Amino acid sequence: MAKIVVMGGDGIGPEVVDAACAVLDRVADRLGLDLGFEHHLLHGACWDVHGEWVLEETVEAARTADAVLVGAEGGPKWDSMALSGPLQERSGLSRLRYNLDLYANLRPVKPFPALFDETPFKPEVVRHVDLVILRELCGGVYFGLPKEIQVLDDGTRRGIDTQVYTEAEIERIVRYGFELAGSRRGRLCSVEKSNVMESGVLWREVATRLHAEFPEVDLVHQLADNTAMQLVRDPAQFDVVVADNLFADLLSDQAGMVCGSLGMLPSASFGDPLPDGHRPAIYEPVHGSAPDITGQDLANPIGTILSVAMMLRHSLACPEGADLVEAGVGDALAAGHRTRDLLRGDPRPGQTVVGCTEMRDAVLTAIDDRLAATTESDGGS
Ligand code: NAD
Repeated sequence: MAKIVVMGGDGIGPEVVDAACAVLDRVADRLGLDLGFEHHLLHGACWDVHGEWVLEETVEAARTADAVLVGAEGGPKWDSMALSGPLQERSGLSRLRYNLDLYANLRPVKPFPALFDETPFKPEVVRHVDLVILRELCGGVYFGLPKEIQVLDDGTRRGIDTQVYTEAEIERIVRYGFELAGSRRGRLCSVEKSNVMESGVLWREVATRLHAEFPEVDLVHQLADNTAMQLVRDPAQFDVVVADNLFADLLSDQAGMVCGSLGMLPSASFGDPLPDGHRPAIYEPVHGSAPDITGQDLANPIGTILSVAMMLRHSLACPEGADLVEAGVGDALAAGHRTRDLLRGDPRPGQTVVGCTEMRDAVLTAIDDRLAATTESDGGS
């Protein structure tokens, strides 16, 4: 039996995770996968019960699980707490990522045809987009020390965050980028700000050096502000975009709109295999806990459902299940189901405004319909 550790977390996290688990459960049932779900608390939900952002037993469960599914963490109740010190001591999710050393966060951006003319972009701008943002997840300015608010001699304060990357940290994520690009269309865009940041200078040097090992991959160096502009001007030009923790965080939220909504983007986080060969992985949507819509059945569960598709493909050795989930999402959207975040103004003819649970049900129905159609055509042949 494959062990799936599930952490809904905070805000809309439990809503979207419930929907994605229902989809995973259905696919497992139909395709004969043996899955066991183990639920754990994360961040605010954990703090309220245990006074800790994540329990050590949860970190260990995640380390040994076949896959981990996370919703989101955070919200005004916990964000307003005056905290200081390393990020992994004040964020359950960051501690998980850091302790498991999941440094490579893959964020695929591929719009569904049903939404080509429903994004803020012209259809011809998004039609051919198929890119991955590869985010460095365990270093950079989010984790660097010192990280504090200091009181100066004159009583005024200053806030400090430290952008720091070792050569080894840069090398492993950029190498991952080259390998990923080599398995796709062979184009790697390495993003930094080497014009004004020393960590960027080192990043560019390392990427240039590694390129010699991957001559089949086209390498482009780009300054992060230019990448932000290029992602709007012509997002289809990109294949793999590799960037540090901060820049990739910003760029991927922006890229979410290429797919119609931030709520559409899935992600997967990997590290190197452990000595026993096991490779921990966390799957989660790109979005946050969306406190503004929590508890109203308004959340778009598709980013989390597509994260389950990534889990099926990368951790559960079930590519046909991944294809089925992605096709089911495409069918539900093609049938006109739209959560509110996907609408630009009033719904158009043929569109039905749905909540999180109705979108879940639409995807489940589409999956069942696809399987029924396959069975019928198999029976008829
Ligand atoms: P957010 O991603 O939660 O929300 C940004 C906007 O997008 C909001 O208007 C929200 O309603 C909307 N949105 C996000 N996901 C949606 C979905 N699935 N369906 C429909 N609409 C969706 O970002 P924020 O508001 O800046 O942050 C809120 C909280 O989330 C903060 O506490 C922040 O720290 C946390 N956060 C957590 C993660 C994570 O857990 N990985 C990531 C980002 C932010």
